This record gives sequence, C-alpha cells and structure tokens, in this order.
Amino acid sequence: MTLKTSWVASANSATTDFPLNNLPYGVFSINASAPRCGVAIGDMILDAAACEAAGLITLEGGPLLQSGVWNPVMEAGASVWTALRARLTELLVDGASEQSAVEPHLVPMKDATLHLPFAVTEYTDFYAAKNHAFNVGSMFRDPENALPPNWLSIPIGYNGRASSVVVSGTPVTRPWGQLKAPDAALPRFAPSERFDLELEFGAIVGQPSKGMVSVAEADDMIFGYVLLNDWSARDIQAWEYQPLGPFQSKATATTISPWIVTKAALEPFRTSTPERERPLLPYLKEPGPMLYDIDFEVSIAPEGKAETVLSRTNYDQMYYSAAQQLCHHTSSGCVMRVGDLLGSGTISGTAKDSRGSLLEMSWGGKEPITLDTGEQRSFLADGDTLTLRGAAQGEGYRIGFGDCTGQIQPAIDLPAWAQEEN
Ligand code: CA
Repeated sequence: MTLKTSWVASANSATTDFPLNNLPYGVFSINASAPRCGVAIGDMILDAAACEAAGLITLEGGPLLQSGVWNPVMEAGASVWTALRARLTELLVDGASEQSAVEPHLVPMKDATLHLPFAVTEYTDFYAAKNHAFNVGSMFRDPENALPPNWLSIPIGYNGRASSVVVSGTPVTRPWGQLKAPDAALPRFAPSERFDLELEFGAIVGQPSKGMVSVAEADDMIFGYVLLNDWSARDIQAWEYQPLGPFQSKATATTISPWIVTKAALEPFRTSTPERERPLLPYLKEPGPMLYDIDFEVSIAPEGKAETVLSRTNYDQMYYSAAQQLCHHTSSGCVMRVGDLLGSGTISGTAKDSRGSLLEMSWGGKEPITLDTGEQRSFLADGDTLTLRGAAQGEGYRIGFGDCTGQIQPAIDLPAWAQEEN
C-alpha cells in the first residue's frame, strides 16, 4: 500500500499522521463555536458538518454529521462507514473535480480546539499483554506464579467508568486515596505518591451486540481505534485491588487521542496474535489476523523542560485482540452498545525500554529512570506532561493518531471535613 495523494499538500508528507490514506474522525471548535464533526487531512481539518450541510456529503439515513459527535455515523452501520470514507476520498484526492467547492470548508488544525470525538457509552479495560501481566504479577505477587491461573484462557477485564474518559490535552489532577505502605499496619488518606500512566490502545464499538457474538462478528462491530492512557495510582491500587480488582486507582481519568482512526485505514497493517501457550476455547479462536502492526511511543516532559522518550513498543505485543475481548465481553449475554470503549490493557514488550508503565520501567520504584534532563522518575511528578504517540508505517506514509497528552496537576486541598481532628 502506497501514499494516496491529495490536493491538500500537507497531507502528502511522509511524516504527517494524516495522509489521505488515514481520514480519521474528530470533533473540533474554532473560537468557542459549537463542537463540529471534522476529518483530519494533513495539517488541516475538513469541516465534515459543513460539507454535509452544503450537500457535498449525503449519507443514507442522514443528516448524520450535525450532532457534534460521531455516534450517529457509527449507529448507521458498516455500509455508511464505507460510503463516507469513499466520498471523503473522492472529495480530497489529487485532481478532485469538486476541489473548489470543498476548499472553503478546510480549517487549519492549529486554530482548532479538539473535543472528545464520540460520546463514550461505557468503558471496559482489559489486561491482555503478557509481558505487562507477567511484570505486574511478579511485583504485586510472586515471580513464580506471576500470571494468574486464568490468564492464558480468559481476556481479563474490569468495568471502568465512561465518566473518567477525557480527550487529549485535558489536565489530570493527582488523586487522593487510601494508601497503605507495605510495613504499615493501617492505611492513611493521602495524595497518591505512585501515580502512573498505562500505554493502551482503545477500540470503539460501532454496532450493538445482539446476544453473544463470534470473534469475526466482534471485529465487524469495531468502528475504529484511539490511543488510550489509563492513568493509574499504584499505591491506591495495591491496597484496594483484592478481591474485586481496581476501583478508585483507575477512576481519576482515562485520556484518549482526539482522532478516531477507522478500522478501514488500518486494514493494510493487520497482523496475528502470538502462538497460544494453552489452546483457547473454541469461541475465542480467531478466523484471521486481528492485531495491527502499530508502533507506540511514550514520552515525558517535566514542566518547562524537554521531552524524554521513555519507551517504544508495538500493538503486536498483545496476547488477545480487541475482537477477542469484545467476543468474550458478550459471552455472558452482556449487551454492548454503540460508543462503548474497550481499553486493550497496558502494552509492554520484553525489553525494559519497551514497557508501557512507569511501574514496570522503574520496577516498582526500585530502579528510578534518569531522564535526558538529568532528573529521575519512578512515578509521575506534578507538572509532568505525558505523551503517547502511535503510527502504522506504510510505504512513504504513516497512519497516525495524533498526540495523546495530559499534564499532572497537584492534588487538590483536602476539604476540612476530611482532615483528622486534633
Ligand atoms: Ca489499564
């Protein structure tokens, strides 16, 4: 697959995240206008809502682009997804007959504020990269039995909160919570001292489930993907997680990148999950390659300082695909809805510089990381900006996601009623 050229010159660069091959969906505003559906092309945004209003885009069951979120397009189903992508390509391809009609609907991305691209219905987070599960199990439990006994059979997950999901650029405030030092008898209530990131990939459910679905049907239901940072307070997590799993340690915020990269754009990059160490039960077997070859990068910038790349890994490190996770999610009869978000689980490779969380990189704080600025980090400090990036690499082009960033704000002052009485 090679670069498709566009009359939008900046889309033809080998380094842009948004060539014509990509066409990701976002929501933007200019000068505090109402949020509008847009499509990234090079360093511009095509105002898709304006194009539909002007009759340049007509969708079955439309109008579908006027609500300021992409959920109506998802609900319309796969034939509309295909038709919209084909029409956008026709409007933006080099030599397009309607170029002069489309040009007035382009706005520079640098002038735009980006918003959540879809209304998140529910959010589930998984635990599906083996290296991450092994590392965490080694630290929290026992290296001899690092993987839980069910791990090679079940895509493990927990039900998170849709209300925690925020768009890239939203500040993230250090949480308070119950913490207990390993040698302390009792917990205390304090700001997290081990606040961390998790590099993940988010799948967006674009069609509802009707009963249990197969892995193939699950793949068909996925509309697109975003980068996802599942901010995690490790000290809160360590005290609270047994027996029902993470709760407040994961509820502060989950940041997603602003552009939904469609499954269609990622199609040329499909790759397979690894060989199974234990045979999967028949319902979880995959009919074909369900992962994608996507490079990820995690970087950190202390306040006012230069960025250091902490880690590089790839989505091919997953043991379970999003389609397998979605299939398993419906296996109990659980109903999945349009706008549901599934976090992949932290994506870690085997090498130290391919790990997807500071918990793993600093091995629970025992091996602090030295940044390019000379500072050390075991966990996140106030003022740090954390950025996730990701791209699939084609011949002379890349399918990128846009930055997924958040800056750590200091913990709030504790209300008087929560303070100890003396
Ligand atoms: Ca997670």
